[in-house]
Amino acid sequence: MTAPLHLFNSLTRKLEAFAPIHPGEARVYSCGPTVYNYPHIGNMRAYVFADVLGRTLSWKGYKLTHVINITDVGHLTDDADAGEDKLEKAALVQKQSIWDIAKHYTEVYWADVRALNIRQPAEWTIATQFVPQMIEFAKSIADKHCYELDSGLYFDVSTVADYGRLARASTDEGEGRIEAVEGKRHAADFAIWRKTPPGETRQMEWDSPWGRGAPGWHLECSVMSGQRLGFPFDIHTGGIDHREIHHANEIAQNQAYCCTNGLDVPANSGAKLWMHNNFLVDRSGKMSKSAGEFLRLPLLIDKGYHPIAYRMMCLQAHYRSELEFSWDGLGAALTRLKRLVMAVEALKARADVAMPAEHWTQLTAHEEIDGALLPLMARFDTAISDDLNTAVGLTVLEDLLSLKKVDPAEKLAAVAAMDAVLGLGLLGLARADLRIRPKDAVLAEAEIEDALARRKVARAEKDFAASDAIRDELAAKGVDVMDGDPLGWEWKL
Ligand code: AMP
Ligand code: ZN
Repeated sequence: MTAPLHLFNSLTRKLEAFAPIHPGEARVYSCGPTVYNYPHIGNMRAYVFADVLGRTLSWKGYKLTHVINITDVGHLTDDADAGEDKLEKAALVQKQSIWDIAKHYTEVYWADVRALNIRQPAEWTIATQFVPQMIEFAKSIADKHCYELDSGLYFDVSTVADYGRLARASTDEGEGRIEAVEGKRHAADFAIWRKTPPGETRQMEWDSPWGRGAPGWHLECSVMSGQRLGFPFDIHTGGIDHREIHHANEIAQNQAYCCTNGLDVPANSGAKLWMHNNFLVDRSGKMSKSAGEFLRLPLLIDKGYHPIAYRMMCLQAHYRSELEFSWDGLGAALTRLKRLVMAVEALKARADVAMPAEHWTQLTAHEEIDGALLPLMARFDTAISDDLNTAVGLTVLEDLLSLKKVDPAEKLAAVAAMDAVLGLGLLGLARADLRIRPKDAVLAEAEIEDALARRKVARAEKDFAASDAIRDELAAKGVDVMDGDPLGWEWKL
């Protein structure tokens, strides 16, 4: 794993060689979900990307400390300062306490994380557990960088150099969309503490020097990242939408807090590299959390797709490219995954029939790899080191699997090493796990297999009428019989 790792820094708009701030270590913070509703699969793309980044850093030998936050207060319905708190609003609509809402959606999110083979970070930082530290942070920058209005404590963006550089990197327009708040000095100024309006009580509010209220969402991420990783840390990640406002504001706060103003030294922003994944887009509009049947991972699973097919779909695209979702695309990713799994199963069968399954799932990146495979490992390393090019990495993995005359056990060790970065869990998957099996299927698998066995007998006896009848019967129940399928799948639901 000797190729130098290059990553794209949104702040400098350049590919940069990764040089850790603390030798041998990599400290990464990823903006996590706001737990007021179900995450859609687009949100999960952000965590698949952060996971591939973390896995790559571990693979390269860095001691990784990855922190992902859970936002359970402070994120307004508009990323700037307008609207209501997303959690307060959800609690009102769903007639539940905020704490119950947050707990429920955190668990829902974690289930998706597990289903996608996203590794556990060193810590999930929960915003409401850092409020005293947020108040301390705000106090330390209030005099020089903030002003108070009736509605809260505001950050004056003119007090730091180069405000919005990150946003300009993406749009060349400067500040993103900002809602007007009465009394703000500049449109881009933002609340770091929001006071509870007189006469109102909120479910979540705390005392502060600026009155009872709640912290701003941008403040939360500055505080949790700085507290756990120390300023400056190596890498901050998030979805591309965060470049405009959320991360621009975090950077301004970090500059104020660290008393370092100019952004010409990238570390002055609090993190050396700011990395952003592009969006998953869905032309049918089903991704919106407000749509009835929206694109959540459990919907894919209910339709019969293994969740790792979605991870595969993400890996096929570069994280900085937009990725269009379609069911055909997901189906194609599943087929590609099936081919990989079948090749790995065949290798396992050839390598040692007696080897228990755990053995393969425990193989790690640093297992001995046969000399003949080293050029392929180097190609894989080069691809991943080139700003996490998983799309090319996958093709190298496929080349590896199609190599002839290599000892199967050696080949499996190389597969395990590549999969340590890709995270498909190839060694633990079986072909049967990947069969499309919708939740609402009316026939059990055993019944289908039984009908197919009868059909085989009928065909052997050249009783084509009986064989066609069985096929039609199955078709009426939603089973598609696939004679001569190249992947050896005899049926699909
Ligand atoms: P949220 O829970 O809304 O704060 O979003 C969680 C993460 O998902 C953030 O990093 C967002 O930038 C990211 N995100 C939101 N929508 C998409 C999308 N369609 N594709 C990829 N990432 C997204
Ligand atoms: Zn954040």
